[in-house]
Amino acid sequence: MNNYIERVLEATKEKNNEPEFNQAVAEVLKTIEPVVEKNPEFEKQALLERIVEPERIISFRVPWMDDNGKVQVNKGFRVQFNGAIGPYKGGLRFHPSVNQSIMKFLGFEQVFKNALTGLPIGGGKGGSDFDPKGKSDNEIMRFCQSFMNELQRHIGHNLDVPAGDIGVGGREIGYLFGQYRKIKNQYEAGVLTGKGLEYGGSLARKEATGFGLLYFMREMLKANNLDLKGKTVTISGSGNVAIYAAQKAVEFGAKVVAMSDSNGCIHDEQGIDLDYVKELKEVKRARIKEYLAKHPNAKYIENVKGQTPAVYTIKAEVVLPCATQNDINLETAKLLVKNGAIAIGEGANMPTSIEAINYFIENKVLLAPAKAANAGGVATSALEMSQNSMRLSWTFEEVDKKLDGIMTNIFKMCHETAKEYNLGINYVAGANIAAFKKVSSAMIAQGII
Ligand code: NDP
Repeated sequence: MNNYIERVLEATKEKNNEPEFNQAVAEVLKTIEPVVEKNPEFEKQALLERIVEPERIISFRVPWMDDNGKVQVNKGFRVQFNGAIGPYKGGLRFHPSVNQSIMKFLGFEQVFKNALTGLPIGGGKGGSDFDPKGKSDNEIMRFCQSFMNELQRHIGHNLDVPAGDIGVGGREIGYLFGQYRKIKNQYEAGVLTGKGLEYGGSLARKEATGFGLLYFMREMLKANNLDLKGKTVTISGSGNVAIYAAQKAVEFGAKVVAMSDSNGCIHDEQGIDLDYVKELKEVKRARIKEYLAKHPNAKYIENVKGQTPAVYTIKAEVVLPCATQNDINLETAKLLVKNGAIAIGEGANMPTSIEAINYFIENKVLLAPAKAANAGGVATSALEMSQNSMRLSWTFEEVDKKLDGIMTNIFKMCHETAKEYNLGINYVAGANIAAFKKVSSAMIAQGII
C-alpha cells in the first residue's frame, strides 16, 4: 500500500478509538491508491489528514419527560463533516446503538455519496441514542422538540440540512420542523428534508432511496448483460429503504421472497405481500413476525444472536441489505455466494464488511456500493430543497424521472472510473475514486481551511 495512505490510516486509528469510523475510512483510503500515487503533492497539503477529520462535531444533552412524568436524558449529535461542495446534508438516526463512531462513519460516507449525486451538497450526519421503539406519540414529540431546542443553533437552509435515517421518518421530521419553526419564528422550509407533502415535502422523497437503489441495480445488471426479470430477491430490513426497494424490484419483474426486522425474517415463497408489510410497518409500527397473521403459509425465522441473520440463509440471486451496518460478514458472504447470489445492492450504509466486499468481488458477484447505490434519498432531498427555494412542487413523475437520471449517471460514473483504472467490476473502488476526486478538488481549490 502507498506509504502516505498507510501512515494516515495508522494515525487515524490511533487517534480515534472508533471501529465503525475506522472501517469506513479504511474502505475509502485503500481504494483511492492510484489517485494518491499520481498526486504526491497531496501529502504536503495533508489532504488525507484533512479529509478524515470532521470540520465540526456537536454533541449535546437531550432531556425529555416520559409519559410517567420521569425525566429521561439522551445524547444528541451532529457531525458536520465536510462542507466543501455545499451545505452539510445528511440524515438523523434515532437508535440505541448511536455513538460518535457511528455518527462519524455515516458523516464520512455521506461526504462522498453527496459528491456522487452531482448536486451542491456537503456531508453531515446526526442523531441520538434515543430508542423510538415502544414510545408513545407524545413521547416521540417531546423528544423531537427537546432535540431541536439544541440542534436549531447549528442548522439552516444554507448551513446544514438534516433529513431522516433509521428511526426518523415523516412523523419525526414533522415534530422537528414544527419546533424549528416555532423557535425561529419564520418558515424556512429548506432547513429539513423528508417533510410531509402538506408543508414543503417532495413527492417521491419517501420512495427515493429504495427506488434509486433499484435504478442503480438495473444499470449495473444491464452493463453486465443481466436483468432483474424473474430473479429471486431477499431484503434485509422492512423500513423505508427496504419497502420501496421491494416495490421497485417487483415492478422490474423480480420476486421478493423475504424481508426482515431486527428480530427475524419472513419467507413467503409466493412473493411478499408488500401492501400488508406497508400496513404493518408504516401504520401499525408492528413487528415483521405479524405478517403470519394474514399469511399463515409463510414462514417466520427468528434471528439467533451471533449467527448469520435469518434473512441471509434464504436462497436468492439478488440480495439487498437495507437495514444496518455490518450486516454481512465474510461468513455470510460465503453462504450467499454458495446459495447462488449474483448481485448485492447496498441500500443500507456500510452493510458489508471489507472482507465480505472483497470476497464478493473475487467471486464475480456484482456489488452496488452504498455510497453510490443508496444516494437516491439524498439526491431527492436536494431536489426537495430546490423546490422549496423556487416555492413550487414538481409532480411525482418529474421527481422520479430526475431520480432515475441521477442514479443512471452515478452508475455510469462508477463504471467508467472502474474501467479507467482497470478495476473490472470493482464498483466500490470506482465510486470511491470518482467521489474522492471531486471532493479533493473542491478542497484544494478552497485553500487550507
Ligand atoms: P428505518 O428505520 O425505516 O428501517 C430500518 C430497518 O432496519 C428496520 O426494519 C429495522 O428493524 C432494521 N434494523 C435497524 N437496525 C437494525 C439492527 N441493528 N439489526 C437488524 N436490523 C436492524 O430506516 P431506513 O430504512 O431509513 O434505513 C435503513 C438503512 O438505509 C440505514 O443503514 C440507513 O442509514 C440507510 N439509508 C437510508 C436512507 C433514507 O433515505 N432513509 C438514505 C440512505 C441510506 P427494527 O424495526 O427491528 O429495528
